[in-house]
Amino acid sequence: MVSDKYLEQFENGRLFDYLKEVSSAQFEQYAEHYRQVLATQPIEKQPRLPKTTLQNKFDEVKTIVDKLLGCKRTDKCYIELVSMGENDFGEYKTDVRTILLNRRLLTDPVELRLTMAHEYAHHVLDTVFNLERSRFSLFDEGFAYGVERSAASTFTQKYERPQFTKVTLEGTIECLRWISLHHPSGGYLLPENILILLHANEFGDDLFAILEAERGPNLYRQILHGEFKW
Ligand SMILES: [Zn+2]
Repeated sequence: MVSDKYLEQFENGRLFDYLKEVSSAQFEQYAEHYRQVLATQPIEKQPRLPKTTLQNKFDEVKTIVDKLLGCKRTDKCYIELVSMGENDFGEYKTDVRTILLNRRLLTDPVELRLTMAHEYAHHVLDTVFNLERSRFSLFDEGFAYGVERSAASTFTQKYERPQFTKVTLEGTIECLRWISLHHPSGGYLLPENILILLHANEFGDDLFAILEAERGPNLYRQILHGEFKW
């Protein structure tokens, strides 16, 4: 178990201050970095994914994410299909250790697996650090998007299906474009805590997209094992 001091470096205030120091031009440069990664994806060879049950798919995702993060054992995690809005993907319910997945993802095998990886990352973070999620929402979301990117890369290699990486990186690039236009230091009428509450996904994703570009995808494993330092 890591110390409270270690976790303090991931609090919303600290992370948001870091984002404010990054210029819009730098955000554009990071977007360009990911555009280049996208441009070097392999050609699709085996577009078909195996037909398996939902639980089998989830077990596969868990194995991939556990391996990426060097996780030996996390608490049991459940999945449940529910009806959600058209633009919703999934949600992790801390109190019942359950991932809710939007039923519509059943027709989209790529998004289904990516959403599982994202929500399962929330579960891992929660069981390892037991965070107060509202105080660490940027960290929580940024970490989950990062794990999703890493899992996407594994899936792309495993199934020779670059669609996984494409979907994930296009989201990251879009998000970096968004932040370069909505810079965290400029011109908001809303108080900072409200801004963070409204845009935890975007700010968190951007922050970790930057850190990952700088330090490589091993970052998430290091964070989880108490080895990360600013
Ligand atoms: Zn999330």
